[in-house]
Amino acid sequence: HFNKARYLMSAPTLALCPPETGVEVCFAGRSNAGKSSAINTLTRNGKLARTSKTPGRTQMINFFTLGDPDLRLVDLPGYGFAKVPLAMKREWDKNMGEYLQERQSLVGMVLLMDVRHPMQEFDSTMINWAVDADMPVHILLTKADKLKRGPAQSTLLAIRKHLKDAQVDDLVSVQLFSSLKRDGLDQLNQVLQGWMQV
Ligand code: GDP
Repeated sequence: HFNKARYLMSAPTLALCPPETGVEVCFAGRSNAGKSSAINTLTRNGKLARTSKTPGRTQMINFFTLGDPDLRLVDLPGYGFAKVPLAMKREWDKNMGEYLQERQSLVGMVLLMDVRHPMQEFDSTMINWAVDADMPVHILLTKADKLKRGPAQSTLLAIRKHLKDAQVDDLVSVQLFSSLKRDGLDQLNQVLQGWMQV
């Protein structure tokens, strides 16, 4: 179904999102984590994530349908706040918190982190919101091709241990991913299909 992805609409807040029928999966990550590349790889559609990077849409919740209006992929606004005013950060926190905690059709979150800089403050915030809402999270450690196999594997195991120690490993899973090499795509597809029951 993912190759049938089409842009539906963008919404700045939960109140303006499309009707909460069916199921949707959201993609979140700090700016430059590799979110657009991963969405392109998954949907085999280079135009799709560019849609979310269109000026005016970068701070929006962007909706894509997967051949059926009741199956949706959602690209959340990137998060890279170094130069963003505090008021804008607060607004983002409010809108994202509401969407993640109250959206009825949301069944899971794919959280993308650069394998070389995993588990930043933003990532923990997203995991905590999802766990509070009893929603599963699947972490993609992106750009895995940038590390040798050994270091990539140790990062994966360290994060698994961290999730286990935090007692969230029942809801939060993790894998290595490379858009460049198309590595980890089958594993991601399986998780998404499990969530969306297709
Ligand atoms: P976004 O801001 O999270 O949407 O990130 P992008 O998908 O635009 O990627 C940010 C940068 O990382 C770009 O220069 C990409 O070419 C690069 N990138 C993304 N995925 C990969 C990957 O799997 N491997 C490598 N080597 N580079 C990647």
